[in-house]
Amino acid sequence: GLGSAYDYGHYGVLLKTNVKNEWWRAMIQERDDIVALDSAIILHPKTWEASGHLGGFSDPLVQCLGKCKQRFREDHLREAQPEGELKCPVCGGELTPPRHFNLMFKTHHGPVEDEGSEVYLRPETAQGIFLNFKNALQTSRKRPPFGIAQVGKSFRNEITPGNFIFRTREFEQMEMEFFVPPDAAPEWYDHWKDERRRWYEELGIRPDHLRMREHDQDELSHYSSATADVEYLFPMGWSELEGVANRGNFDLTQHAQFSGEKLQYVDSATGDRYVPHVIEPAAGADRATLAFMVDAYDEEQVEGRERVLLRLHPRLAPVKVAVLPLVNKDGQPEKARAIYEDLRKRMPAEYDAGGSIGKRYRRQDEIGTPWGVTVDHQTMDDDTVTLRDRDSLDQSRIAIHELGPELEERLIRPWHSPKLC
Ligand code: ATP
Repeated sequence: GLGSAYDYGHYGVLLKTNVKNEWWRAMIQERDDIVALDSAIILHPKTWEASGHLGGFSDPLVQCLGKCKQRFREDHLREAQPEGELKCPVCGGELTPPRHFNLMFKTHHGPVEDEGSEVYLRPETAQGIFLNFKNALQTSRKRPPFGIAQVGKSFRNEITPGNFIFRTREFEQMEMEFFVPPDAAPEWYDHWKDERRRWYEELGIRPDHLRMREHDQDELSHYSSATADVEYLFPMGWSELEGVANRGNFDLTQHAQFSGEKLQYVDSATGDRYVPHVIEPAAGADRATLAFMVDAYDEEQVEGRERVLLRLHPRLAPVKVAVLPLVNKDGQPEKARAIYEDLRKRMPAEYDAGGSIGKRYRRQDEIGTPWGVTVDHQTMDDDTVTLRDRDSLDQSRIAIHELGPELEERLIRPWHSPKLC
């Protein structure tokens, strides 16, 4: 395998897809002022001149001159040691002076590999949004304040990838650019900081594991008047989960200049025209997936045995319901399979008849399945089943025909991690 590149298997794909779907739900389904976009990954190379990435998208690289020869980001080392001469954190060796290293992956467009064919894999999804600002404004029947949202792969040749899927060179972003009248920017900046924190909390992250860190003046990008990071208490410490930035009119002004297009909003009623300001919540799908998994992980003792489980929000859980026959005879497997085939039309479900009932429950606990349905002797008489709750382990009796509507209702109900209680 290639270092720091990860492949997602079955449940990982389902979990990350749910994270992205919940982001789309919050951006598109439950609001009416944002439109969706899926732009190209390889954009016109001038895009990156306009955005400042070609000139400025670099990290300060230092290398150990001592024994270990490892590379580090100088700014990361400075966080741990704000003053004095920096030494290699691994072997204590001297470090080279910082060199600036552009993080964009370069490739060639078309069959001829000359300077004119150089292009880049996008290091963020945001610039594709700015390039489509005018298209969206003309076709979506929206006016500021309105947003454009995009989810997709981004690529950064990170100097120090690591911490599993926290920092990789190929990753997925969930970004939204919200275009507002200039004088409304501070108010919308506050709105999006609140909304984005709420999103993580509503999906089950414990509030004491989340914090909003406002950037100091000297940390801000030259174009940003305010930026805050939503941080999560990862096992390696507080780290950025998502950034929310007030980017002013920097992006639209730059793209207007480099493309020769006017990128502004004209109010047809009043004749007012202005370049909208932009508020950007920029999240990572892989980082969010990692945080949801870490936060949901739990171990407890049940009847003298350890139970390992993921207390995932039901909407994030890869499988919502498992249908299990108590025994593999007396018509129970057929009955359970029929219930499963009915339920899976409504939500992701699994049928499992392999192994003891205890083992089958534990398997579902480990992948975070919130509900288990067991078909037993009584089912064959009265068409009721046992419904088991992953978190409380409560078991209740419910008629088969009520299962689908009941579970669908539970999926839209507010949910809190039982770890909070
Ligand atoms: P960092 O300081 O951690 O490098 P950043 O401030 O450069 O992140 P942004 O450019 O604001 O990150 O990107 C928005 C989001 O994209 C981040 O909050 C993070 O969730 C995600 N992201 C950025 N770089 C990576 C990466 N290399 N691997 C995984 N996710 C990433």
